[in-house]
This record gives sequence, C-alpha cells and structure tokens, in this order.
Amino acid sequence: MRDFGAQLLSYLSGVRVVALPALDIGLVLLLTYMVLIIIGDRRTLWMVRGLIFMMLAAALSRAIGLRLLGFVLDKLVIGSAVAMAFMLQGEFRRLLEQVGQGRLWQLLNPPQEPMPQPDSVIDQIVDAIKELSQNRTGALLILETDKPIDERDFSVPGVRINAEVSKELIQTIFQTSTLLHDGAVLIRGSRLIAAGVILPISERSASRQLGTRHRAAMGITERVEHSICVVVSEETGSISLAERGSLNRPLTSSRLREILRAKFSKSVEREAVAPQLRSLGRRLGAQVMTFLQRLLRLPSSASREKK
Ligand code: ATP
Ligand code: MG
Repeated sequence: MRDFGAQLLSYLSGVRVVALPALDIGLVLLLTYMVLIIIGDRRTLWMVRGLIFMMLAAALSRAIGLRLLGFVLDKLVIGSAVAMAFMLQGEFRRLLEQVGQGRLWQLLNPPQEPMPQPDSVIDQIVDAIKELSQNRTGALLILETDKPIDERDFSVPGVRINAEVSKELIQTIFQTSTLLHDGAVLIRGSRLIAAGVILPISERSASRQLGTRHRAAMGITERVEHSICVVVSEETGSISLAERGSLNRPLTSSRLREILRAKFSKSVEREAVAPQLRSLGRRLGAQVMTFLQRLLRLPSSASREKK
C-alpha cells in the first residue's frame, strides 16, 4: 500500500513536471491571444508587437549572458509598458471592467463589428449637418466607429428609434419643437438607434465658450474611444468633431465629409488587422463548444432541428 502511495506520488510529480510548463505556456499564449483580439487598431497592435519583441529580446539577452543589454532592455520594457498604460487608458478600463464583471467569454469572442457606414449614409449625415448649421439648429450626433457602445457609458440611454439614417430624420429630430431634440442621437452603421441620449460631460478644462453640448461630445469620446461626435452649435452654427476627448473645430461640411469618409474606410482596414486570428478564434470557439456538447451529451442545434 505504501509502495502504491509512493508510486502515485512520483507519477503525480512527473505529471506536474510536464504539465506545469505546458499549462504556463498555454496560459501565456491565451493571454497574448486575448490582448491581440481586444486590440483592433493597427497602430496599437504595432505598439503591442514592439513591446512583445522587446520583452523577448530582453529574455534572450539574459539567457545568452548579455546581462547589461538585458538590464537596459528590461528598463525599456517597463518604461514602454507605463507609457502604453497612459496611452491606452480606455482599453485598459474596458478590459478591467469586463474581467470584473466576469465577462471573460466576451473578451475571447468579441461582438461582431457593425458594418462601416457606406458613403451614402455619410452623405445623409453631412447634408443634415450642413442644413442644421445653416439654420443654427443645435445638434449632437454620436457615431460608433467600430463596435457598439455599451449603454452604461451614457448617463441616460434615451428613446430607442432604430430607423434607417436619413437627412430628413436627423433634421426633424433636432427641431426645437420636438420632444427628442434635447440630447444626442446615436448612430450605428446605417441605423439611427436612439435619440435624446444624455452623455457624460467632460471634466477637462476647455474654453469658456464651450457649453454642455460640446463638453458632452468631449466627455463621451474621452470615455469611449471607438466613438466620434459631430456637434452643431445653436449659438454660432459652427460644426465640430469630437474624437478621444478633443474637439476639432470649426469645420466646413465638406471637411467633415472628408474626415468621416476617411474614418469609416479605416473600419474596413480594422478587419484586416488580424482576420486570420479572428476566424481562427471563432473556429476554435465553435470546436470547443462541439466538444463540450459531446462530452456532456447535449443535443446540438442541428439535431434538435431534425427532431
Ligand atoms: P451651443 O453652441 O449649441 O449653445 P453649448 O456647447 O454652448 O452649445 P449649451 O448651450 O449648454 O451647450 O447646450 C445645451 C443643449 O445641449 C441642451 O439643450 C441639450 O440638447 C444639449 N446637451 C447638454 N448637455 C448634454 C448632455 N450631457 N448630453 C447630451 N446633450 C446635452
Ligand atoms: Mg450654449
């Protein structure tokens, strides 16, 4: 009996010796995969790749005995990581929130990105903005640039509309005689999702000329980096574009059209950042689900349909 116990212990320690490094490597790969999936922006991806490259170079230098180079590279990695934490505040906040809320599956399988606006939708938006500006009618539009905004980022989610974007609809909503003119309109792809949305106000110090409408545009784009806001001032008719908490103003309508077109064609580029990785992730996810279904003997949706 004692022999059996000793054998079992040595067997388990053997398994530990093999399994632990494998688990370690597996978890690091999973973490890297998660980070690469979360990052959509090509430039951010380059930064992360640069950091990973420096970490590998530091480890390699230490392994081959170049201790001084390893030391310098280590310090550079720490400095770059701190700088990146500042630059990617929004992404880190979202990551920590999702981990805190236990939405880990969502991290591995991010929601499908909405289609970028076709030029016709941008034309409808810009034509509406141009007329609102000429008539000095105040307006505030929030546009999602690649993925849906979490409603919890709004102070008040407003009234759901879910209609096709049109110049007439946008102009009508912002007429001061309507109940929905106060607040922002939310646009996702070619759909006008909601009106009367109240956004968080930016606490950044800004020009005294800027009132709550402009500060709201700064506030939401500061908080949600995958969004941009178009503002028409009721007082001056000027057009502004808010991005990452900063206002670009005043803009002409043709400049706004150019910026929006450039911005939304970038969303197509985003899909090119890691398409293989994303499709691999989806395929892996589907296979894991099938395996789990077989293991737990759950009927698949196909077999359920047959019945
Ligand atoms: P304008 O140049 O048009 O006067 P402004 O930046 O000076 O803009 P205010 O004069 O304070 O801003 O504009 C008030 C309007 O802005 C409100 O009637 C409302 O429609 C809109 N607004 C104010 N705060 C918010 C908010 N937090 N979220 C969405 N819309 C807001
Ligand atoms: Mg004002």
